[in-house]
Amino acid sequence: MPDLTPDEFRALGHLFVDAVADARAGIERRPVRDAVEPGTVRARFDREAAEAPSPLAAFPSLVETVTGDAETRWQHPGFHAFFPANASLTSLLGDLLSGSAGVQGMLWSTSPACTEVEQAVTDQLARALGLPEAFTHDGGGGGSIQDSASSAALVALTAALHRAAPDPETGWRARGVTGRERVYVSAETHSSLAKAVRVAGLGERGLRTVPCAAGTRAMDPVALSDAMADDVAAGLVPVLVCATVGTTSTGASDPVTEIVGAARPHGSWVHVDAAWAGVAALCPEHRWVIDGVDGADSFCTNAHKWLMTAFDASLFWVRDARALPAALSITPTYLRDAASDSGAVVDFRDWQISLGRRFRALKLWSVLHGQGLIGLRAHLRGHVALAAELAERVRAHDGLELACEPVLSLVCLRVTGDDDGTATTALLERVNADGRVLLSGTEIDGRPVVRVAFGATGTTAEHLDVLWEILTHPR
Ligand SMILES: *Cc1c(COP(=O)(O)O)cnc(C)c1O
Repeated sequence: MPDLTPDEFRALGHLFVDAVADARAGIERRPVRDAVEPGTVRARFDREAAEAPSPLAAFPSLVETVTGDAETRWQHPGFHAFFPANASLTSLLGDLLSGSAGVQGMLWSTSPACTEVEQAVTDQLARALGLPEAFTHDGGGGGSIQDSASSAALVALTAALHRAAPDPETGWRARGVTGRERVYVSAETHSSLAKAVRVAGLGERGLRTVPCAAGTRAMDPVALSDAMADDVAAGLVPVLVCATVGTTSTGASDPVTEIVGAARPHGSWVHVDAAWAGVAALCPEHRWVIDGVDGADSFCTNAHKWLMTAFDASLFWVRDARALPAALSITPTYLRDAASDSGAVVDFRDWQISLGRRFRALKLWSVLHGQGLIGLRAHLRGHVALAAELAERVRAHDGLELACEPVLSLVCLRVTGDDDGTATTALLERVNADGRVLLSGTEIDGRPVVRVAFGATGTTAEHLDVLWEILTHPR
């Protein structure tokens, strides 16, 4: 059965694009999250795949029939849960071109365009964010687009493990992990670091949870320094410290400069995880999010959270372009390549876990092209302003209180005087049952908290008013 002809694709493509546009245009008529029983969607499928082909023209409406009542609508302007992952229509256009190219950008030569557009846009973004020039490909380091911040953390850890114990002869890490490697995080660090430690085979004791400074949710650099010194005295090897800027739970930030200072004497890799908050550095008034990064080894921020770029697009920069290939490059004969051997090119397969990679840079480029930095700053500032306005209303309200100071576009609140948390938990359930908004919860010092994260591309002041009405007058 041959594929569609380009002309057939053109005709069908219009139908599919119409379906996308209709879905976005009508999204507010739907609940943010459908109430659905587990197994509902699967039960609508036959056990066996169809033998006979069916017309693709009917496919969008089939998808709607099968899945349309079983969605959580991340692109709904009332989506304030977790961190919104905005998949702008601007980025979908670039993603379509990427799908069309269908390249595997594992080596420079398997798609020079894929490699070099990625280098160019990560260099541009490094400069736009105010990262040190050392983090650009021009400056001896460089950026890459990973599938997720979780993968970026695993790549950073793999490079750190290698740097901590290279074999003097081969340059390759001679032994596997010894059980003496240690990775330092705080209780607020994203779980992806614990997962990376597990995947890297360091064992549960490989993860050291450093206390936060008293009364804060930020890693105490003195406690970090002490822990590292104790570990070294005990014959252990401090391999990596993860500093977070904008934690997932409450938006708290670790003191990156002090953490770099504590890690430096031990030669530990410092990875800065700013998966959500990092993109805010596009705005001069939020540049604090990259404070101290000039001393770090790697920095990660997700374009697929708050930078309008459809998942997956996690931006990952390193200071030393050689560090990742040193740890990850393996060249069987079927991947031998003259351009690679020349040393004049970057092979991004050596910057990630998997071999194959999509042309992700196209959707990011389409966002940069279609929005410009001006558009992106307006997008970020709009959400920060909504968070500030919500925080103001909470401060002025008798029944609600801020659980901590808002950070950028994230507001954490609870019911005033709700010591055991039952009223706050009930509030979250009532609000989410309304259907027009979706929030998520967390805890601060063991007390339940409601998180409101602004970040969907369509969210405006009117949506804040709806949210406020639901929060203060639950049906
Ligand atoms: C969301 C988040 C992550 C995980 O991001 P993925 O791209 O889904 O792996 C890691 N760290 C922080 C601080 C996050 O907010």
